[in-house]
Amino acid sequence: MKSYLKGALLLGSLFIVGCSSLVEKKESANIIIKNGTVLTMNEKRDIIENGVIVIKNNKIISVGTEDLLKKYSANKVIDAEDGIVMPGMINTHTHASMTVFRSLADDVPDRLNRYIFPLENKMVSPEMVYLGARHGATEMALGGVTTMVDMYLFEDDAARAVKEVGLRGVMTQNIIKYPTADGQKKGETLERAIAFVEKYKNDELITPGFGPHGPHTVTKEELLKIKELSEKYNVPVSMHVAETDVEFDRIKKDFKMTPVEYLDSLGLLNERFIAAHNIFVTDSDIELMKKRDIGIAHNMVANIKSAKGISPALKMHDMGMRVGLGTDGPMSGNTLDIIGQMGYVAKLHKLDTKDRSALPPKKAVEMATIGGARAIHRENELGSLEIGKLADVVVIETKSVNMNPIFDPYSALVYSANASNVDTVIVNGKVIVEDKKIKTVDLEKNSKELNNFKGKVQKIAETL
Ligand SMILES: [Zn+2]
Repeated sequence: MKSYLKGALLLGSLFIVGCSSLVEKKESANIIIKNGTVLTMNEKRDIIENGVIVIKNNKIISVGTEDLLKKYSANKVIDAEDGIVMPGMINTHTHASMTVFRSLADDVPDRLNRYIFPLENKMVSPEMVYLGARHGATEMALGGVTTMVDMYLFEDDAARAVKEVGLRGVMTQNIIKYPTADGQKKGETLERAIAFVEKYKNDELITPGFGPHGPHTVTKEELLKIKELSEKYNVPVSMHVAETDVEFDRIKKDFKMTPVEYLDSLGLLNERFIAAHNIFVTDSDIELMKKRDIGIAHNMVANIKSAKGISPALKMHDMGMRVGLGTDGPMSGNTLDIIGQMGYVAKLHKLDTKDRSALPPKKAVEMATIGGARAIHRENELGSLEIGKLADVVVIETKSVNMNPIFDPYSALVYSANASNVDTVIVNGKVIVEDKKIKTVDLEKNSKELNNFKGKVQKIAETL
């Protein structure tokens, strides 16, 4: 009896020691996401049912099945409740501050010259840029965007707002040959851009860059300087390219080249360049863009709305080029989330090619995630859920009425989901949206301050 008890006690203590050593063996992390269908968007496009993502500091340290729960512990465990867990989406082209002007003078001919430029000259101030960017970045965060590529005036103030919301931003200071609210004198916007790049060069969330407005709205001299400066600082250049027939004809007339050939002749097309729109491009332009390995921002919804044309972005994607999705500014595309883009991109390219297999939902999700990361040349850090990548993760809930049933998660994302299905958003290892609410800024106060501008905008718009 005694010996039996002794044995039992020994076994018991061994068991306890065993258990505690198991507990001790658990590696500590900061965030664990469990119970979701994980769309890794890795090279094999693996999907993990009941998948687990483990985040430590600002990086993903493990991705796999629920077995990982035995290996890791974390202070914060997010139950995805059968939702879809995906890489944060990347908005490769926008002007977030223009939320201040959203829904004004939609569908007016020659809107850029008639409304946008005059309005911006009279209205734009650092305060307006800050409030508009804060509102726009909040909308993007709530819609599952974790990285945005922006181009605007007073970009320093836009970057300040984006940091406050907690998004990752490739922020480029607008450079244009006309006098603007942030540059009355010749060369002033370029000087502003240099100061902005120097200020944010080593920021964790903001990648500063140069934003020449377009091939025909910036002087050749300044474009050459921008080429040199982007090389010197090793920062991106984002630019509207081949967006309108007016631009195409002007460059043809002045330089006897297409806009793409013209920019290449200046040495601008390289691995730092992100071209937005790319509607008026020839087959040889596309070959050149591929050869120069530039990023492509495809802004389908904005391009449909303005009836400018259909960019051959699907062809570019299928050629292995770096194609991501963009919303353009909220005066052009009106909404700023990328989920809303995917359905249009899939459907319109099918209609355009008269081929329903031309752009399956998986391809649209690719463009929204890893494609966007490739477009900004950051596919080693962003765009997929893989060990070592930055922790930019989104959870889409699947309980809402529009999300049921789900036979194919890609299909559900592209054809069924909308921005309001985004439940949780993590950027750089920090939860910025939880239970569909933004945690970093006061949304109500934000909207109120933004709407204070409405009266002023209306008054000026009436004079245009
Ligand atoms: Zn734009």
